[in-house]
Amino acid sequence: MRLSRAFLPTLKETPAEAQIVSHRLMLRAGLIRQTSAGIYAWLPLGLRVLRKVSEIVRQEQDLAGAQEILMPTIQPAELWKESGRYDDYGKEMLRITDRHDREMLFGPTNEEMVTDIFKTYAKSYRDLPRNLYHIQWKFRDEIRPRFGVMRGREFLMKDAYSFDIDAEGARESYRRMFRAYLRTFARMGLKAIPMQADTGPIGGNLSHEFIILAETGESVVYLHKDLLDFDVLAQDPTGTGDPSPVVDFWTSRYAATDEKHDVAAWDAIPAESQVTERGIEVGHIFYFGTKYSKPMGLTVSGPDGTPVVPEMGSYGIGVSRLLAAIIEAGHDENGIIWPDAVAPFACAILNLKPGDAAADALCEQLYAALPGEAVYDDRGERAGAKFADADLIGYPWQAIIGPRGAAKGIVELKRRATGERLELPLEEAVAKIKASIA
Ligand code: ATP
Ligand code: MG
Repeated sequence: MRLSRAFLPTLKETPAEAQIVSHRLMLRAGLIRQTSAGIYAWLPLGLRVLRKVSEIVRQEQDLAGAQEILMPTIQPAELWKESGRYDDYGKEMLRITDRHDREMLFGPTNEEMVTDIFKTYAKSYRDLPRNLYHIQWKFRDEIRPRFGVMRGREFLMKDAYSFDIDAEGARESYRRMFRAYLRTFARMGLKAIPMQADTGPIGGNLSHEFIILAETGESVVYLHKDLLDFDVLAQDPTGTGDPSPVVDFWTSRYAATDEKHDVAAWDAIPAESQVTERGIEVGHIFYFGTKYSKPMGLTVSGPDGTPVVPEMGSYGIGVSRLLAAIIEAGHDENGIIWPDAVAPFACAILNLKPGDAAADALCEQLYAALPGEAVYDDRGERAGAKFADADLIGYPWQAIIGPRGAAKGIVELKRRATGERLELPLEEAVAKIKASIA
């Protein structure tokens, strides 16, 4: 993308309404634009990151054996009356009446709908286990939408739903998702710690929240220091096979949210290993048995022909919230520092002197060598403004090209995260950038 033709609006001033750094930076870097309270339009750069984050989520769900579907945002109220949640859900649910006076709603989650779909087709124990997921917009009429996409009203969620013949099967599905979640967040450069959690309005008896430590987090969390050193991608590089060792490992140390905090267990941990922090919930998994399958009439015939009510779980990831969480975890005073895996573009090519034949030619060559992975700052701005924008947006690499280096065919590469600078011939610069894209 050439910046002279692109729609990448950055803001110099810090927007007054933004209270936390990720919100400020998302507005200033031109990732999002608020259209009503808690509702955002995604601008080109924000959309690219949202897609990259979604794709990692998708790959790990597929690897764990879940299958992608796409359910609608608008749901009929009847489904929620069947489960008994229509009245319980309260004001967070956006209720809609269509022209025929039918009660509809904008889905805050999809347990009812997926159970209804699945029950049409699942007839026998051979149709189990199955896990279906989608990545779809949700609406929750939050009383206090704030912090940008961290707590929006409309937000993108990945939600998966597992169906199993018995409790042991459901626990295995839960463990698979548990591992998939650890891997998903680790691939985005985040350390998300699974913590015992309350089940809230989803209901059920087993639940973990995946939480990223950050000062701006909304909940207080308690954990054993060792958890911060665990690395799931090293422990289980393929992400296939029995997930139990990974789950056992990560649940062998204390970690709990405020609501589930057990003071006696906490006091048993040596003081130097106790970490009390604030955290951001990026994922939440639940095993809730027959809470939906039973009232909604999902039954299959078991191996001996008797009817069985499948055991279910649900598994959510806050896809749009993740962008804010990644920025909370990776920024400095100049702007965002994207991890390679989710950066909107790998590299910004900064032409320090558009119009200089050698600089123009070298920039064009580099730009052509990185299709779809580079933005080319060919604007007639001064160098300082180009550096500031590139730092603000946080491309992992900046390729700085001016007349002097260009005359020798040399590209100056700056690594955004470390500030490290390298002077390299074109091919080596390209190889270096490509190696980080993976
Ligand atoms: P919270 O406690 O933060 O309100 P929740 O427990 O109600 O979230 P879940 O039903 O567990 O949320 O939803 C799954 C995931 O969706 C959460 O882990 C979170 O990452 C994300 N999420 C939930 N509510 C919002 C929101 N209002 N804005 C953005 N993301 C959200
Ligand atoms: Mg939750």
